[in-house]
Amino acid sequence: MRRKIIAGNWKMNGDGELVRRIAERAADAASGAELAVCPPFPLLAAAATQLPSGVRLGAQDVSEYEAGAYTGEVSGAMLREAGCRYAIVGHSERRTLYSEDNARVAGKYVAAQRAGLTPILCIGESLAERDAERTEAVVAEQLGAVFEAAGDRAFAEGVVAYEPVWAIGTGRTATPEQAQAVHAFVRQRVAERDTDSAEALPILYGGSMKADNAAELLAQPDVDGGLIGGASLDPEAFLAIHRAA
Ligand code: 13P
Repeated sequence: MRRKIIAGNWKMNGDGELVRRIAERAADAASGAELAVCPPFPLLAAAATQLPSGVRLGAQDVSEYEAGAYTGEVSGAMLREAGCRYAIVGHSERRTLYSEDNARVAGKYVAAQRAGLTPILCIGESLAERDAERTEAVVAEQLGAVFEAAGDRAFAEGVVAYEPVWAIGTGRTATPEQAQAVHAFVRQRVAERDTDSAEALPILYGGSMKADNAAELLAQPDVDGGLIGGASLDPEAFLAIHRAA
């Protein structure tokens, strides 16, 4: 049985008060799926001390470099020291707003693993790419860059989040069938390299996942959890998604 993970990506939102409210609520979430939160960097320390020990902490990004003159960047080792277990890499907002290409994202993936973090690799197609029936090609290319950088067992210690760009923050969720089809494709691509890591790999869905659509998405055989944006900022809604997993 693969582990299920419900992770909240706060993006550039939240404050100390939200950390406190989530920490209070998360105490009830000791059982069931793994719960993780990825707040902005300055809130990691507060989250690490306040969250119940079963709740995992993640960063929203990580540098591909270990140390040095990279103003504004944060290394994997720093994130480990701050108490992180996960680091999101390649979120579509990083890819589009900050021009991160597949090679850079793969570099971050490798850097996270080297630092002892579990990378959460975000992949997914734009609406134009879906309409042009290029979804599988896009996703295969995004995975391919990571294999190139990290080898055939790249996903032995990793998480994939399928986040169709057209579903992020739009209120338009992929149907359970659409999500399942891409998740199965991702697992198959990983299996072509290494069957064991494909079998164990948690593949999360992200894109307008809410308390009222989570259960049907999470019921799909290859949907192993969710990466939640907007709804993760509301402790009530976030914990309701966790209960659906
Ligand atoms: P929303 O849940 O707000 O659509 O965001 C999804 C996302 O980008 C998570 O990383």
